[in-house]
Amino acid sequence: MEAVFGCLERNQEEMKEEQKKELALKLIDRLKKEYPDAGCTLDYDNAWKLLVSVRLAAQCTDARVNVVVEKLYEKFPDVDALAAADAEEIEEIVRPCGLGKSKARDIHACMKILKEQYAGNVPDSFDALLKLPGVGRKSANLIMGDVFGKPAIVTDTHCIRLVNRMGLVNNIKDPKKVEMALWKLIPPEEGSDFCHRLVYHGRDICTARTKPYCEKCCVSDLCAKAGV
Ligand code: SF4
Repeated sequence: MEAVFGCLERNQEEMKEEQKKELALKLIDRLKKEYPDAGCTLDYDNAWKLLVSVRLAAQCTDARVNVVVEKLYEKFPDVDALAAADAEEIEEIVRPCGLGKSKARDIHACMKILKEQYAGNVPDSFDALLKLPGVGRKSANLIMGDVFGKPAIVTDTHCIRLVNRMGLVNNIKDPKKVEMALWKLIPPEEGSDFCHRLVYHGRDICTARTKPYCEKCCVSDLCAKAGV
């Protein structure tokens, strides 16, 4: 009898997973139409600059980071210059982004590693990225997707809030667990753009601080939490 119940439960789980995959495809399609050009909102023209910006973006807006890095690169225009700088000099410039001391220390250490171990380049392996100071899974995924065009799931605060509301995951808040759940649902080649589009949607419509604007939402007929 236990074996029968176990089998039934497994079948139900598989059905739920299939339904979520179908939902994911519909959401991807809808958001693609709504935000056709959604991309990374951090400005960069070089992989190492995106590494710097993602570190600065922790608990700071991308808009502010984009202003601060201009000043940073006026003084330290390349990997070598940042690697040779004193962390205190970097801190003086990046302080407006918050957590200046630790961000400056990480950026300095990270640029030193790029210089000494990667000839000034950014490694294109997820595991190598994860070993860089101040680089977590979110940042490593962002770099993999945006710089190297590889499959990526970037679980930032917008992504986590929205996929919970939409019903792709159920009450999962831990970024790594959300990432792992989404890998099973989102076609790999769609992950990076899907996450960028969630950021746009989270800022404009499915907001965190106000009640979400479900009446204006392009996925309201698909979303588990529409109007709740
Ligand atoms: S319907 Fe409402 S809760 Fe659902 S994604 Fe849209 S804005 Fe967010």
